[in-house]
Amino acid sequence: MALKDCVKPWVLELEPYQPGKPPEELERELGVENAIKLASNESPIGPSPRAMEAVRKTLTGVHRYPDGASFALRSALAQRLGVKGEQLVFGAGADEILELLAKAFLGPGDQAVYAWPSFAMYPIVTQGMGAQAVPVPLRGDLVHDLDAMRAAVVPETRVVFVCNPNNPTGTSVGAAEFESFVSALPEHVILAVDEAYVEFVRRPDFPDSLAWLSERPGTLVMRTFSKIFGLAGLRIGYGVADPELAGYLNRVRHPFNVNRLAEAAALAALDDDAHAERARRVNAEGVSYLTRELQGLGVEVWPTDANFVLARTGADLPGRLLREGVIVRPLAGFGMPEHARISVGLPEENERLVKTLRELREADAG
Ligand SMILES: *Cc1c(COP(=O)(O)O)cnc(C)c1O
Repeated sequence: MALKDCVKPWVLELEPYQPGKPPEELERELGVENAIKLASNESPIGPSPRAMEAVRKTLTGVHRYPDGASFALRSALAQRLGVKGEQLVFGAGADEILELLAKAFLGPGDQAVYAWPSFAMYPIVTQGMGAQAVPVPLRGDLVHDLDAMRAAVVPETRVVFVCNPNNPTGTSVGAAEFESFVSALPEHVILAVDEAYVEFVRRPDFPDSLAWLSERPGTLVMRTFSKIFGLAGLRIGYGVADPELAGYLNRVRHPFNVNRLAEAAALAALDDDAHAERARRVNAEGVSYLTRELQGLGVEVWPTDANFVLARTGADLPGRLLREGVIVRPLAGFGMPEHARISVGLPEENERLVKTLRELREADAG
């Protein structure tokens, strides 16, 4: 029998996740120098110096397995979030929390509802377990259509993903909408709120999802050290849930899924509020700058609560920017061929993007 007759049929149908190109690879491919990557929503200011120091100190101990219970990090984070330690689950990125959820709750015959366009891992983890992915189009203003998502819930639905703020649009759902959605959600459905960008949110009426954990068991909030904390390369994220749900996720978790360096770095990063504050400020300034300048060039830009902006650049622009060494994320794969997602960079990187865009426009006009 051929391998493809043995592999699970749903795996055969999976579209693999398309990661952004590293700048070094682009430089090799196109022969450009000083490429900049504004494509993966990474922190432009890098990790906290305290996190780097913690990694250096931990290096001599990497012949030992990590603390599978993440005791120190668990205590610090629980205290910070005002939850019990047993409510936390750590993963190799929030991506792994999504996988643990799928592994514990999804299988053939089950359904998972999510907005689309949204984070590409929701269909991947859902279909990866043989369950049915049920995408619900965003509203015209590119915000989650919570009414339509509620209407898509059927007895087979096991999980509803809400990405807030939403990647790749940067749009968010407010507290009032969120509350009426959650109140109407059947008890058996797991509400999985993905808050990878929560630390960047500016709207004052952003939902307090953690407050729902005690009101509604079967709620999972996911967050990450990859974005504002600048630790994407170390892979660490977490889920917060009621102890029962957290316990199920923990059962399907590998004992040493989070590595020693990541645990040490995350703990130190949590302790560096000034660094996170700087990341937030650099981002807010970058968002204002990019929004103003892109609009000035006649490019439509959406309001964002995250560390990237959604721009209607036209279909050919990401490819043309790429040849100039500026990497942004085209959204054709999300059914938005005219749009690009642009991560906020350092001021000089944002300026380079705008300057390149202006030059391309001038070349077209001239
Ligand atoms: C970046 C991101 C994540 C998780 O990233 P990890 O690096 O795996 O922690 C999760 N959800 C969304 C929406 C993201 O953009």
